Order: sequence, then C-alpha cells, then structure tokens
Amino acid sequence: MNASLRNCPECGRIFGYMGRNLCPECLGKEENEYMTVRKYVRDHPGAGVFEVAEATGIEEEKILQFLRDGRLQSRGFQGTLECERCGNKITGGRYCEACRGQMDASIRQVAPPRNKTQEAKPASPARKKGEKMYTKD
Ligand SMILES: [Zn+2]
Ligand SMILES: [Zn+2]
Repeated sequence: MNASLRNCPECGRIFGYMGRNLCPECLGKEENEYMTVRKYVRDHPGAGVFEVAEATGIEEEKILQFLRDGRLQSRGFQGTLECERCGNKITGGRYCEACRGQMDASIRQVAPPRNKTQEAKPASPARKKGEKMYTKD
C-alpha cells in the first residue's frame, strides 16, 4: 500500500497519509474528543461552547473547529460562530445562508452573459490549510 508520508500537524510525527491530515494517534484522540463533545451536546442541547468546554475538558478552540468543519451542530452554539463574510451568527460552517446564496448569485453575475459555453464551476471555498493548532499541556 502506498501511503504518502506526512508530518502530523499536532504532534509532528511522520505518518502515512490516509485522507486525514493527522496521524492515527492524534486522529483517534480527536475522534474521542469529538465523541465526548457530541455526547455532551446531545445530552445538553442548550449548552454553549464555554459550558461544553468546561464540562468535557476539551478546548473551546477544538470545539469551534468541529463547528467550523460542520461536524457539530447545536442550538446551544447559536451565536458562537460568525459568518466570515457578514458577521451574522451561524451555527456551523463558515458562512450564513444569505451569504452563501449571495455568493452564488454574484458568481453568476460575474460570468459573462449570454455565453452558452460558460460552465460555472461550483466555488469550492479555499480551506485554510495548515491552520496552526496547538495543545496546552
Ligand atoms: Zn499526531
Ligand atoms: Zn453572512
């Protein structure tokens, strides 16, 4: 099996890349944290990020990351994240519904009119790669 080798951004270990940008150990750790957070949020649907972080012992930043990744949603998190475009409160992802719609529309406006050959590619939001993550001991 050919896995390309990478450095784990969490612990710096070299590992065989399998589709996730973390070494198996950190991935397992993150998965555990995710499960813990998810379980807590399920049992406490109104809990805010701060409360969840306190109760689970998992960093707020980590919880926010799950939110941004769209893996976690809870009405208790309403108002935690802001749309990166207009600052509206959102519960997950990076943009609010309105902005997603507007960006869609403006992409279409920018495209030359009456050009039948134009093929608007769906804009894939450029994810910030290599966002610094750190753990406090
Ligand atoms: Zn690692
Ligand atoms: Zn917005």
